[in-house]
Amino acid sequence: MKVPPTLSVVLGNLLKKPATNQFPKSEPVPTPEGFRGKLLYDKDKCIGCRLCITVCPAGVFEYVPEIKKVTLWLGRCVFCQQCVDVCPVNALEMSDEFLLATYDKYDDNLRWLKNEEIEKMIEEQKSKKVKKYRIIE
Ligand code: SF4
Ligand code: SF4
Repeated sequence: MKVPPTLSVVLGNLLKKPATNQFPKSEPVPTPEGFRGKLLYDKDKCIGCRLCITVCPAGVFEYVPEIKKVTLWLGRCVFCQQCVDVCPVNALEMSDEFLLATYDKYDDNLRWLKNEEIEKMIEEQKSKKVKKYRIIE
């Protein structure tokens, strides 16, 4: 009987440890440098220039004129990083978080600037004194 040429490979592999990463029993495979995971937003840095809205192909952003900031719903995000590259003040950043599955598409983990936060910021803005400018002739 002719022995198949792959037999030695098969027998050799039987003696080796499995090459599978048994997630979730073990940690997931580490993300490489420059990985494009969940988008982070720093509202304090944001200057409301709206460039991110212009470049985003997925309609993730919405402008809130009262506070000159943007809201993000990451349920639409395609992780292209164009908004990060265009933001002039580095208010946006891709993280290495990728375990984003949820039962609720409007999960808090997928949103930046929730309604309560926006309302609070609008109230704070109203309570601030309006700076008056004097025209110098
Ligand atoms: S990563 Fe791409 S799809 Fe996601 S918010 Fe930024 S521009 Fe939009
Ligand atoms: S591009 Fe940056 S600064 Fe401009 S609105 Fe978007 S997040 Fe804010």
